[in-house]
Amino acid sequence: MQTACFMVYWCSMLPITKIAENIFQVPVPVPFPLKTINCYLVRDDAGWAMIDTGLQYAPAHEIWEAAFGALDIHARDIRRIYLTHAHPDHYGLAGHFQNLTGAPVFLLDKEIEIVPFEWKPDGEHIDLIARFFESHGMPRAVVETVHERQLQVLAMVQPQPVLSALHQGECVTLGADSYRVVWVPGHADGHLVLHREADGLAFIGDHVLIKITPNIALWPGLDPNPLKNYLESLDKVERLAIRRALPGHRGVIDKLPERVAELRAHHAARLEECLNAANGCTAYEVCLRIFPGLRTTDELRMAMVETLSHLEYLVAAGKLEKREGEVVSYKQLK
Ligand SMILES: [Zn+2]
Repeated sequence: MQTACFMVYWCSMLPITKIAENIFQVPVPVPFPLKTINCYLVRDDAGWAMIDTGLQYAPAHEIWEAAFGALDIHARDIRRIYLTHAHPDHYGLAGHFQNLTGAPVFLLDKEIEIVPFEWKPDGEHIDLIARFFESHGMPRAVVETVHERQLQVLAMVQPQPVLSALHQGECVTLGADSYRVVWVPGHADGHLVLHREADGLAFIGDHVLIKITPNIALWPGLDPNPLKNYLESLDKVERLAIRRALPGHRGVIDKLPERVAELRAHHAARLEECLNAANGCTAYEVCLRIFPGLRTTDELRMAMVETLSHLEYLVAAGKLEKREGEVVSYKQLK
């Protein structure tokens, strides 16, 4: 397997990188703290497949135009669009590209079930999130700021695509190669990995990232214990013998088992922190304690759902008591 990445083109300050034969990484700008999402273009004899898309955001359109120009891709050359999951930075431009190219947009069946709820154009889910955060102690004024930001994000995933289903265990062809579809719930309930079993290359989305830890979020109406799922999914990818993982953010991962071990240790430490901080406190109070120095609304909403996923894991594990009421609080079980 080729081990070195090398840049082939520069456009708008951002490099397009040839990752392997016929696989190109396009770092698409996003207006979030992560700054870019890695999308991929895979070439075969008949045309191109796209993996993940970015958001409705002018700089994202610019980089895609430049990437298409640099690789001599015309809209009709895009034959298939695959999404690793339906988070906005991965899903947001799928409808736009479907309209432009006529290509089918594929997502895991379990994630397709969630999309109508998660991205309902009338913002019903966003209203639910606001009530949920308020019930977990977030002050009304802060909730309103988060609500406004979520509405901005909803506008960045329009138009929405017609989705086609992938299923756990099936194989898809990308370039000239076969990839197994593997379900890895946790970062998103219906997150998938595309694994080229012949040599261990994998498109891993946001399941494992280097330098940053994937956000494990508890959102109302979705899986009630995403951290448990995530830790089990780490075991699952470890068993796949992935030799080179192409992630949704940051650099390529060549030492997956080491990174998986670091992520496990990270969550073990954060669980301990949450356990110690939850002394009759609300999730919002725990959040501010374990994430001091939050600077933006995006950082705050992500920290809040990350805290909740850890608190609910501890409740399910019998270590914390959840006290329901107008405002929910958590307390250590003696
Ligand atoms: Zn994500």
